[in-house]
Amino acid sequence: MITIVGAGPAGCLLALLLARRGQRVTVYERRPDPGLLPSEAGRSINLALAARGIRALRDAGVMEAVTPLLTPMRGRRLHDISGTEQFLAYGQSHEMIYSVSRADLTRRLTEAARAQPGVALHFNQQCLGYADPGKLQLRDTASGSTYEVAAQRIVAADGAGSVLRQSLAQRQGFIVEEDRLEHDYKELTLPVVNGHPPLAMDALHIWPRGGFMLIALPNADGSFTATLFLPRSGPQSFELLSSGAKVRDFFAREFPDALPLVPDLAAQFAAHPQGMLGTIHSPGWRDAERLLLIGDAAHAIVPFHGQGMNCAFEDCRILDGLLAHSPDDAFEHFEAQRRGDCEAIATMALENYAEMRDTVRDPGFQQQKDLAIALERSYPDRFIPRYSMVMFHDEIPYSLALERGRVQQGILNELASRPAADPQVVANLIRERLPALSAAVQ
Ligand code: FAD
Repeated sequence: MITIVGAGPAGCLLALLLARRGQRVTVYERRPDPGLLPSEAGRSINLALAARGIRALRDAGVMEAVTPLLTPMRGRRLHDISGTEQFLAYGQSHEMIYSVSRADLTRRLTEAARAQPGVALHFNQQCLGYADPGKLQLRDTASGSTYEVAAQRIVAADGAGSVLRQSLAQRQGFIVEEDRLEHDYKELTLPVVNGHPPLAMDALHIWPRGGFMLIALPNADGSFTATLFLPRSGPQSFELLSSGAKVRDFFAREFPDALPLVPDLAAQFAAHPQGMLGTIHSPGWRDAERLLLIGDAAHAIVPFHGQGMNCAFEDCRILDGLLAHSPDDAFEHFEAQRRGDCEAIATMALENYAEMRDTVRDPGFQQQKDLAIALERSYPDRFIPRYSMVMFHDEIPYSLALERGRVQQGILNELASRPAADPQVVANLIRERLPALSAAVQ
């Protein structure tokens, strides 16, 4: 029997995967049952789902139930200060990512887990930690009473603020590094206008402004969720947006075409929380084979590659496979296999922030992207743009994407310095520096 703490995306999906193999699973979640909440609650907050997440959802047999929730995004639509839009494809014409409501996805996963024999879901149960191996301390949030349960094998999927990570750090005496970004975020809803979406539905919209940016993802009902990423303090910062008038002036100056799309901007800005962003580096992920951290609890990352949940889903798929084949040392193998990949996506997610808010505007950058997509067409087994390796190629581990991405950037820089390179020179460069992927990845 496995005990999971946290029924977020990772906890629910893992419960489902394990139960499908006949494993008994008990899940404790501090929040109320999402099935009992009105469907609007939290619905505007959306996430990008990509290949790694989709593969895990398929393995769990739940992709069919999730598909109606998805809105495809084929690329980025950049909005410059004059309101002119430019479309940049994410990859080849068939490659896309999907916007999905976090609340609807979690609800679908919860329903699927509940329907699976062997899964017991307990909501309104907050984990307080674990002290003695094999014992989990819990609090019933309705009654306030605390109690202990026996749990021989625990998976902590309790998110970035994980109390089980804190328990583990205390027991093992390690220090968790929480690298907080100097930028925070705020979410805003762009409503449907006269029955029409406020923006083109086929893309992730970006207003890149150098030191900060606004982005917007489509929702299935035609509305959009925008997120403002901005420094906490300084000349362009949240600190200075201290009144409705200042917020409106800021939008009128920086995002003039977005301003009319948020009629109640000042009210939303005041009502919505200002969220923190950061990367968690936890030196320990497990207590022998008794406790294992997964998802954000183990390795929360900044959201600029749209991979936190995808990576958490990949964790679930890999852990499920290890528990099936080598149950006695699955936690140990999981940590050994995943650590390098999770560090790699943490690095790439940070690098992607500079790309989204700044370099994406540079014509030289766009030419390199086009060249990278063209090189992939000519050398599909050797040159795959880094963004595509991360988002569309679940068979390529993150660490390999990071490593090959660096080599590829060197090639692109070299080709940029001699624009009329002989095709034979290009072919040689690629063959010399990039071993065939089919040999590198099973
Ligand atoms: P969580 O989603 O945090 O779930 C943890 C669960 O545990 C929650 O249900 C919580 O209530 C419960 N819990 C917590 N503490 C306790 C406790 N003590 N006892 C019991 N239960 C507890 N990822 C993407 O892949 N694509 C994106 O586009 C994307 N965009 C993002 C945008 C923003 C602004 C942010 C902040 C993140 C984004 N992410 C994205 C990241 C994604 O949200 C997370 O990586 C993902 O939610 C991690 O899932 P999880 O299940 O590990 O943790």
